[in-house]
Order: sequence, then C-alpha cells, then structure tokens
Amino acid sequence: MNVLSQMQSYGHERVTFHQDAKTGLKAIIAIHSTVLGNALGGTRRWAYASEADAMHDVLRLSEGMTYKAAASGLAMGGAKSVIIMPNANQQPTEAEARAMGRFVDTLAGKYIAAEDVGVSPQYCDWMAMETKHVMGGNTVSHGGDPSPYTALGCFNSMKACLTHTGRKADFSNLTVAIQGVGATGYRLAKLLRAAGAAVLVTDVHVPTMKRAVEELGCVALGNDKNLFEQKVDILAPCALGGMLDAKTIANLNCSIVCGTANNQLANPSTDGDAIAKRGILYSPDFIANAGGLIRLAGLYLGMTEAEIDQKIVDIEQITTEVFALANTGSTGAAAIAFAKVKIAAGASKKVLVGAGGGSR
Ligand code: NAD
Repeated sequence: MNVLSQMQSYGHERVTFHQDAKTGLKAIIAIHSTVLGNALGGTRRWAYASEADAMHDVLRLSEGMTYKAAASGLAMGGAKSVIIMPNANQQPTEAEARAMGRFVDTLAGKYIAAEDVGVSPQYCDWMAMETKHVMGGNTVSHGGDPSPYTALGCFNSMKACLTHTGRKADFSNLTVAIQGVGATGYRLAKLLRAAGAAVLVTDVHVPTMKRAVEELGCVALGNDKNLFEQKVDILAPCALGGMLDAKTIANLNCSIVCGTANNQLANPSTDGDAIAKRGILYSPDFIANAGGLIRLAGLYLGMTEAEIDQKIVDIEQITTEVFALANTGSTGAAAIAFAKVKIAAGASKKVLVGAGGGSR
C-alpha cells in the first residue's frame, strides 16, 4: 500500500492502524493536519472492498477535514477515522464502539471522534465511555447529531449559488434533485420544501426514500432513470463521494451542484475544471457541508450558540468568496487555495506567538 508515500503525497502528519482481538474491530485513524489545532472528524463504519479502499477513503476524508475547518475559520486541524466492517450486515455494538474509543484515546486529544456514515449519537456515547475525545453523543459526550446543521449550511451555500448565477435567493419555482435522503439529505429536503422548492429524490434504501415522499411531499425518481441526468435547477449529492466523474459531469443537466456529501469529485484535479467548463456552478463539498463540523467543533472549542449559528450563516458568504476566487475556473481548486491561505495565516500567527510575541 506504500503508506508513507501516500501520507507524503496527501501531506498527512500521522496515520494509525488498530485492531482489537476481542471484538474483531479493525480501524484506521488519519490525522492530516494539526497546524490550526487538534483535529475533529467523524468515524465512518463501512464494509470496504479492501484495506486499500479504506486507506484511500480515510486519507481523502481527513485531508478534506483540514480544508473544511480552515475555510470555516475554526481553530481546528483535520482528521477522520474509518472502521473496516467485515460485512455490510455487521451491527454496531457497545463492545466494538468502546474498543474504538480506546483507540481514539491513544491519540490523547490530537484526534476527536464524532459521527459519520454508519455511526450514530449512541455509538459516539459508547466510544465516549472510554475517552473524553469524542463529540456528537447525547449522554456521555455532547453535541448530538450534527446533520441538521450540515443541512442548514448546505441550504445557505445554495443561496450563494443562486445569487452568483444571477438569480434571487428564492427557492419557489425551483426543482432540486437530492441523491440520498438520509440524515442530511432528508433535512435538506425539508428546508427546501419549506422554502417552496419541488424536490426530486432517490435513495437505495426504499423506506428512507418513502419517508421523504410521504412526510415531505418529495417526488421519487423511477428506478429506470438517472438522477444526475434530470433537468433540474440544483443537484444535491447527499449520499457517498466520488459520484462526479468525467462521465456523470458530461451528462449533468443542472446549473448548480451543491450537496452535503464529502469528496464529490472523483478526481479533483480534473473534475473541478470539467464542471466549470460545462458552465455548471459547483459549490465545493467541504464549503457546503461544513455546518455539522462548525456545530461540534464550535461546542468543543467553547463557542456560544450565537457564535456557532453565525458561522453557519457565514457559509453563504464564504461560498461567494470562493466563487469570486475561482472566477471561471475550478471552484474546488479555489476552495483549497482559500483554505490554504487560512492555514498559512494561522501557522505564521502561531510562530509569532511562539517567538515571544504573545500579544500579537
Ligand atoms: P446517511 O447514511 O444518513 O444518508 C445517506 C443516504 O444515502 C442513505 O439513506 C443511503 O441509503 C443513501 N445512499 C447511499 N448510496 C446511494 C446511492 N448510490 N443512491 C442513492 N442513495 C444512496 O448519511 P449522512 O449523514 O446524510 O451523510 C451523507 C453524506 O454527507 C456523506 O458523504 C457524509 O460523509 C456527508 N456529511 C455528513 C455530515 C453529517 O452531519 N451527517 C456532515 C458532513 C458531511
């Protein structure tokens, strides 16, 4: 797997591998950067096809967390962890979560775990029985489910997309297509329906899709149709990453892509340009989906409710700033450049403080 070479190419500080003989738990924790502070990032439970796939996922996700925290103006680094499930039916247990909590604890607070796909607030509370470095639970740890805040931040980013494309930030008479109406997608659909949009949905889990139809009045797309090719105003990927590649981008029939999923571009070095060349505005994933991180990291850092809420409102402005930086080029590349400026500014401030300039 050439782990060290991969770490060098992504710029990771530390990657740790863990296995627990008693529960069979296998996990990887990747700390991409602690330049701006300790790093909060979710734990993903997934039945990866191979260890190499898990490694690729955790490296990309943790790198994205560094940019997400920096772009949002948080004093946080970037990290993420993955649990490699032996099969998709493996149920989460307290014993497994506690073993994961013990792994997290070995990093002494450099890494703070939270929810991601497959990990619930209950799972976070189980992990927190073994370490204080967990957010996102409701009893042993705190912060709760971040997905309502992620959805709200994405909705705010959509407003910036509308104004940038010369429209009013008014969702009535718009059609939005959402792929995946789970924790974040469902809440995004709810906000959009309340704002007057028509919402077209797909979900591989039929009861989840039915819930969005029955409770929110969304329209389910037939199995024979491809959501990414539907003529809509906004496409919101809210399932897993990597769905925007050369082929899907060539067939997109929307003017805006803005969703909650992480790592939407399969190949960031080419796909960002490809979307821009098609004249489609892409709101970079780690800008649009930062609301949940802002919520949990904000609580961890001791911010007030009002400060946290304001930062989620600010996602609209940050999206606009990234679009201005991108001009007609890749908005994904512009978002990374935007975050790197903040990381460099934070790093130089630390050096100045460390050099005896505490008041600077
Ligand atoms: P979730 O598991 O609750 O929901 C995802 C939904 O997508 C599920 O209902 C699943 O059945 C569906 N799905 C999976 N593959 C699909 C496909 N090919 N087509 C249609 N539907 C499909 O997860 P979530 O918490 O909503 O997270 C969704 C995405 O947002 C993930 O990429 C996650 O990393 C990212 N994200 C989530 C948060 C958060 O606060 N939960 C924060 C930032 C980013």
